[in-house]
Amino acid sequence: MFCVNCQKEVEAQIVTGADIYGPRVFCRDEPFAMCPHCGNYGEYAINKEPPFSVIPTFELRKAYNHIDCHLSSLWERQIMTKAEAENLMSVRLYGGLHPYRTHEIRTRDEAVKAYHLAKQLYKEFITDVKNS
Ligand SMILES: [Zn+2]
Repeated sequence: MFCVNCQKEVEAQIVTGADIYGPRVFCRDEPFAMCPHCGNYGEYAINKEPPFSVIPTFELRKAYNHIDCHLSSLWERQIMTKAEAENLMSVRLYGGLHPYRTHEIRTRDEAVKAYHLAKQLYKEFITDVKNS
């Protein structure tokens, strides 16, 4: 996996949420990937989706949460599917050149852009729902 802090491919250790946050958290059984060199970590996989390839820094990990907080409302409120939301992000962020996944973001710049786009989508679609 690519560790953003070390800026290189590393042999990640797969641990659980309990290893990181203790046994009482809701994500105690979820897999996390940890960098053996610097100790940064991030979610390794969500549900049955393919595993992520990035170990984020603390800052990026916070950014992922902010981005997903806006994006996930789109599918949690069934305005569109997760695939449709990610496709929209891919088109707007990368011109559709490669798929979008929040947890694959490697730089602060990219995270800032994704955050603004996610907020924009949230406004576009969720304000519409309220007004109609
Ligand atoms: Zn590292």
